[in-house]
Amino acid sequence: MAKKIVTDLNVEGKTVLVRVDFNVPMKDSVITDDNRIVQALPTIKHLLGNNAKVVLFSHLGRVKTEEDKAGKSLNPVAKKLEEYLGKKVKFVPYTRGVELETAIKALKNGEVLMFENTRFEDIDGKKESKNDPELGKYWASLGDMFVNDAFGTAHRSHASNVGIAANIAEVAAGFLLEKEIKFIGGAVDIPERPFVAILGGAKVGDKIGVIKNLLDKADKILIGGGMSYTFFKSLGLEVGTSICELDKLDLATELLEAGKGKLVLVDDIKVTKEFSNDAEIRIAAFDDIQPDEMGLDIGPKTLAKFSEILKDAKTVVWNGPMGVFEFPHFAGGTIGICEALASLDDATTIIGGGDSAAAVIQNGFADKMTHISTGGGASLEYLEGKALPGVTCIDEL
Ligand code: ADP
Ligand code: MG
Repeated sequence: MAKKIVTDLNVEGKTVLVRVDFNVPMKDSVITDDNRIVQALPTIKHLLGNNAKVVLFSHLGRVKTEEDKAGKSLNPVAKKLEEYLGKKVKFVPYTRGVELETAIKALKNGEVLMFENTRFEDIDGKKESKNDPELGKYWASLGDMFVNDAFGTAHRSHASNVGIAANIAEVAAGFLLEKEIKFIGGAVDIPERPFVAILGGAKVGDKIGVIKNLLDKADKILIGGGMSYTFFKSLGLEVGTSICELDKLDLATELLEAGKGKLVLVDDIKVTKEFSNDAEIRIAAFDDIQPDEMGLDIGPKTLAKFSEILKDAKTVVWNGPMGVFEFPHFAGGTIGICEALASLDDATTIIGGGDSAAAVIQNGFADKMTHISTGGGASLEYLEGKALPGVTCIDEL
């Protein structure tokens, strides 16, 4: 099903409400990473270039009480956006009311306004996060059409996405959301084969839905990272002090059974006696972990095996690092997978998951990947095959 995108709208002279994801990290009201602002620029520039009156809004952090408001204003984001756009961004420090309405009415074609953190509406009864019908309706009344470009909250039904969409004439995806739909949705629904999924990270429990959904769709699923040990334990092997979810052993057995011939486990492991970057490292076979050892990264044989499987892949989805990549001595497996993906010329490579995306970016592989998802939780739910309310609410073409 094709979704309406921002280029399908006739925005000339229209007031366009745009839900962006400006949930940027801040320290003392200074933005420490403005990537999300940069990523939102194409949609904003397109609208301004086509003479729309643009009304931007976003959430920023969690706001439950009046005290939580401190340091959660979007004002610094408006200032930063002004630098990127090279034009005035009028900031209205309210989420509703006469001042906001007057400022929106005063907008001329090609001008842009931003209003305050949508979650300021959560103080009084979680109106934004619980999709209060009155709030969605009110916000919708402020514009002619709605563009959703916030993938990070697309797995939630909030007033600022689903609520507005239910009360306005036209709803389209922004370029960023369109990209997520195209790559993640495309990989899961119509992958070019072979389709190889790489799953890692800390826990099987977090990724059950993803593993189950991909078992039906992928040709191979490579399992690395901390979740390996729950699988090994379920096979009756010693996993020492490695992270292991004892309450998920039956589930692991079930997944191994269902995934016969598809699930590929690690052969060798970097083990240590303590959780530290400087601990002495031994390479152990998967069935030779000692009771006082913990596995913190995949070993060289495993990396070679995984890389070999990846060589022929035409679609790759990666979620979850191969080891404790935060420790440089245990980042090798994760970096090795980055290299394997970077060397594929002819494959679509998709990174989902917050830590996996961070690993790829930190290690300088961002421009070698086809797509790095901007939404951790949303990308996981999308990979689980769930319908995302923030995507479903966009008009079909
Ligand atoms: P994502 O955010 O990409 O979905 P997760 O949150 O599931 O990934 O997992 C990331 C975390 O898993 C990292 O903090 C990493 O240190 C941890 N991890 C990976 N392998 C291991 C391991 N062998 N032992 C302990 N933690 C691990
Ligand atoms: Mg994570």
